[in-house]
Amino acid sequence: MNIVVLAKSAIDEAELRADAQGHPVVKGAATKLSSFDMNGVEEAVRQKEASRGTLTVVSLGGQEAKKAIKEAMAMGCTRGLHIVTEPDDAPDSLATAFCLAQAVRRLAPVDLVVCSEGASDTYQGQVGAMVAEFLEMPFLANARKLDASGGAATCEQGFEGGVRIVKARLPAVVSMVAEANVPRYPTLIQVMVAGKKPIEDVPFSSLKGADFPSTGTRVLDVSVQASERKRVILDGTPEEAARKLAEALGREGVL
Ligand SMILES: Cc1cc2nc3c(=O)[nH]c(=O)nc-3n(C[C@H](O)[C@H](O)[C@H](O)COP(=O)(O)OP(=O)(O)OC[C@H]3O[C@@H](n4cnc5c(N)ncnc54)[C@H](O)[C@@H]3O)c2cc1C
Repeated sequence: MNIVVLAKSAIDEAELRADAQGHPVVKGAATKLSSFDMNGVEEAVRQKEASRGTLTVVSLGGQEAKKAIKEAMAMGCTRGLHIVTEPDDAPDSLATAFCLAQAVRRLAPVDLVVCSEGASDTYQGQVGAMVAEFLEMPFLANARKLDASGGAATCEQGFEGGVRIVKARLPAVVSMVAEANVPRYPTLIQVMVAGKKPIEDVPFSSLKGADFPSTGTRVLDVSVQASERKRVILDGTPEEAARKLAEALGREGVL
């Protein structure tokens, strides 16, 4: 199978700090392959291995996207395609999906497009469905299991108290949820080999075209929710601490 996986560079939330006004300090913040996309990449690599096919990782963004592509290639992607944005480019979810779909068309014929449930920083959960719409492919959302064989994709979706099995013909776009798998950690050799795999650079502006869509969405403000911590330390034996914790939670009205 010819498989494409969409993977976004995300701000590493563990490293993110807020300024005195409560705004996240995004400039210079550490980035990584979006944690949910690690599950998407893992699934795509397994599908590539099972079908003895090829797997291209596509990412849209600045130079940080190249780092995400290399992380995905170390996990097993065959090659990378980087849609290179400039600092003045401001693609919203729709524009992002449009250009990702354009990139997938360049890799045609594609059997399967894998993405994840949402980007671990912005988490709008819109891009996968929009890519499917632009490509006129079926979209199977939030899969926790995927069987792509016999010309069809069959997915298991989990619900509170239930399971749903959905099936669509290939080519299709499938988004994976985090519980789908445990992503592999590449070895040092796999990281070094990934450094030699090909990455095609495609300027974002070259994919826009006359029918480039725009919702005009602009992010006006992002702020950190303030939370007051009481910093209560409960000492004593585990049993005493547990009793004090239960009492404290009772006083707060939690229990
Ligand atoms: C320079 C810059 C300016 C921006 N300006 C704006 C703006 O003006 N207005 C606005 O609304 N947003 C803006 N954004 C945010 C950007 O559009 C979002 O990060 C993007 O839409 C994806 O986030 P999402 O939450 O919609 O993805 P989701 O829909 O949560 O992502 C779902 C899945 O789609 C795939 N995917 C999503 N994005 C990418 C990607 N970039 N590359 C590869 N795969 C991807 C991944 O598999 C991901 O797991 C800007 C971003 C940048 C880098």
